[in-house]
Amino acid sequence: MSYNVPSLMNTYPRSQYRFERGEGVYLFDGNDRRYLDFAAGIAVNLLGHCHPHLVDALKQQADALWHISNMYQIPAQEKLATRLTDMSFADKVFFSNSGAEAMECAIKTARKYFHAKGQPEKYRIITFEGAFHGRTLATLAAGGQAKHLEGFGPVMEGFDQVKPGDHDALKAAITDETAAILIEPISGEGGVRAVPPQCLQGLRALCDEHNILLIFDEVQCGVGRSGFLFAHEAAGVKPDIMAIAKGIGGGFPLGACLTTEEAALGMQAGSHGSTYGGNPLAMAVGNAVLDIILDSDFLDHVKNISSYFQQRLASLVDSYPKTYVELRGEGLMRGIQLASNVDVRPFVDKLRQDKLLTVAAGENVLRLLPPLIIEKTHIDEAISILEKAAQ
Ligand SMILES: *Cc1c(COP(=O)(O)O)cnc(C)c1O
Repeated sequence: MSYNVPSLMNTYPRSQYRFERGEGVYLFDGNDRRYLDFAAGIAVNLLGHCHPHLVDALKQQADALWHISNMYQIPAQEKLATRLTDMSFADKVFFSNSGAEAMECAIKTARKYFHAKGQPEKYRIITFEGAFHGRTLATLAAGGQAKHLEGFGPVMEGFDQVKPGDHDALKAAITDETAAILIEPISGEGGVRAVPPQCLQGLRALCDEHNILLIFDEVQCGVGRSGFLFAHEAAGVKPDIMAIAKGIGGGFPLGACLTTEEAALGMQAGSHGSTYGGNPLAMAVGNAVLDIILDSDFLDHVKNISSYFQQRLASLVDSYPKTYVELRGEGLMRGIQLASNVDVRPFVDKLRQDKLLTVAAGENVLRLLPPLIIEKTHIDEAISILEKAAQ
């Protein structure tokens, strides 16, 4: 059932559900009915709802200073950038408010790099079919999905798409105009496919061979969700540029573009900007998220709970092959492809009626993105609802 609001643009097919508060892994409606949230605002509520440490950080900052321009020093921004660079491949960070903006910065950084090196003809970026990088005009062009581009006029120039896994097509697509290859290490909207480690390694080698940049879009899979701080770490490769968002803000709008010193070559004073990017409220929450994630035991918890999740999901798929066809993804970013005669959108709605919140993805995939704080009991609860739905 859809819910229409005359004064809102009709861009979302809203359901009739209305939640009034959240606590940990649960959302509550006006009648205090409890829903198990394995959607987490589409991979955003990384630490669940109203995590006390995040609430405290936001309240304290709200009493001190909300917004100040990037014309001035913002100590919490320096702190968050230093923490992100200390724990990743990166040397430099630009803060944005969303994933698409973090990706815009990534695309601009790659183009500007070659411009600064005196090779402005190198501006094209190779992307993969089925990818999703955001809804701005540039990120739509990067994603290349016809259903998202239709009606929005000329598609921004400079993106060449190849089929995932087609090595010959990929090699053929690299020309003297290629600046970078862009990929999600684990795709989200497209159908929750984890790129095999050897493919990420192959992409790194190919980029090195051709002196082009490797860009990872970890807006959905980054910040602990895969069991690693960043999903690409599992493959032992490093990008030159990476976009993150969603989880890093834990529910507060925050994104970031991380780059090496070298790749940031062209980004100088005046090259790029964002009024709100790196705002004190966002920085307070971003730092609070990292306080928890970087605690020595936290990612171990994610890895342990992920392997339990994997076991339970694998046996679910084995037990109900008429409904659940293929388990995908890594860590706490999981997809189950449904049988071709089971349409994922009504299935998501059915699960909502049973008080389990999930998200649909491409290729008829049911997406499960629980907060990283889940315990076995939450997984057991979700599995029993998924079993009931299949019966
Ligand atoms: C959600 C998402 C984006 C876009 O993020 P917004 O915050 O919605 O702009 C980009 N890339 C990936 C992989 C995403 O999942």
